[in-house]
Order: sequence, then C-alpha cells, then structure tokens
Amino acid sequence: MEMKDIPSALSKLGDDVLNGAESLAKGALDGSKKVAEYIKLKNTISQAESRLNAGYIELGKKFEELYGTKAAPEFADLLAQIADARAQIAISRAELVALDSAAICNNCGKYLQAGQRFCPNCGAKQFSDPTSFLDPNKE
Ligand SMILES: [Zn+2]
Repeated sequence: MEMKDIPSALSKLGDDVLNGAESLAKGALDGSKKVAEYIKLKNTISQAESRLNAGYIELGKKFEELYGTKAAPEFADLLAQIADARAQIAISRAELVALDSAAICNNCGKYLQAGQRFCPNCGAKQFSDPTSFLDPNKE
C-alpha cells in the first residue's frame, strides 16, 4: 500500500468497524484511538506472521534432520530444492572468495570501483582494502 492510500484505507477501516460491529457503541472510539488500535493490530498480526514463518522454517529444518533422504516421496521435490539451494550457496560462496581482487563494500557487499573510499550504494566508509577480510594474510 502506498503512503497516500493509508488515510483512505484507515477511513474505510473506520467505516467497516462502524458498519460491521454493531455491538460496539458508535462513537466510542474517536479517530485517533481507531488509528492507534489499527496500527497495534497490524503490528500484532505482522509479529505473529513472523513467528509463524519462523516456526515453519524450524519445522522444516527438524523434519529434514530427522527424515532427510528417508522422507516419503511427496517430500522429494522440497528436499531436492533445499539440496540445490545448498549447492548454489556453496558455489557462490567459493566464487565470492575467488573474487579476491574485486573490491566489495564491507557493509552491503556491493561491488566498488578500485580506490573508492565510500560505498556508492550504502555510503559506508571502506577499510583501506575492502577485500582484506577475505584473506587474513593480506594487510
Ligand atoms: Zn555499501
């Protein structure tokens, strides 16, 4: 939702609350209380959704640990997707280390031009050699 749409969305929400919840005494909530309640509910929902997703991720990791290749065939596609992503991460990490000569922002990881002291993407000040963390023997 765009910022400019929020007032009309809030106003619509206010109408829905008033029209739909007849048990609520009309006018019991003034506008600013409705806005505060709306924001509080949105935050509660968003936090619960985060916990839900984190729970699903943990569930999946434990499932893979426990059953892995012994899992029923209906899980084969998901397990293959996980194995494929793991392989891709390993390859890309190796490529990242191999990019020793390329300068990478020490904050956001974007490529830098040689000698740039500030990242054009995030503005972070760079170490004397932004890739020095890749090779502990390099100054
Ligand atoms: Zn950066």
